[in-house]
Amino acid sequence: MDHKESVCIVYTGNGKGKTTAAFGLCMRAAGHGKRCLVVQFMKGPGNEYGEASLAAARIPEIQVVRFGRDEFVSKEQPAAEDVRLAQDGVAFALDAAISGKYDLIVLDEINVAVDYGLVDVQRVLQIIRERHPHTNLVLTGRNARDEICEASDTVTEMKLVKHHYYAGVPALECIEY
Ligand code: ATP
Ligand code: MG
Repeated sequence: MDHKESVCIVYTGNGKGKTTAAFGLCMRAAGHGKRCLVVQFMKGPGNEYGEASLAAARIPEIQVVRFGRDEFVSKEQPAAEDVRLAQDGVAFALDAAISGKYDLIVLDEINVAVDYGLVDVQRVLQIIRERHPHTNLVLTGRNARDEICEASDTVTEMKLVKHHYYAGVPALECIEY
């Protein structure tokens, strides 16, 4: 299918700013009354991210759904529950993408879910291909697969030049969550 009326964007790389850039696009879209869906992978319900709390409380145009646990996922041996949740997230995202209900869908950390073997890359390519022609997509997370970048229209790599974490600054409310 030709998707001239929408694009697929990838935010990847080791530098900070991928998830927040994706939420920035949602703000932009919501400002035009557009409907946005953010599907978050590998993030549990217990994490209080300011952007998700704000959307839930005050921005009806931005719906955020999480498919993850509050534990770290092991890259070597992911728990069965982590795999199941990620695959549920992909199924949910595919339905939403096909439905045409959304102008913008963010699959947050989907690149990491693929990198960790929780999700088959083919499933992501299917979402890119089969989405409604009006539905824009944003795929975030480090180590985006080449196939995903090739199938997308815009790819931005956040480059790590410096990060305060390496100077011992802990995760800060307002900056990290
Ligand atoms: P943000 O959510 O702030 O937009 P991100 O989505 O680009 O960041 P992730 O790779 O998802 O970053 O990592 C999540 C968290 O790890 C962020 O809170 C961020 O501050 C921190 N982080 C990002 N890049 C680095 C890095 N290179 N080294 C250490 N911590 C990092
Ligand atoms: Mg992120």
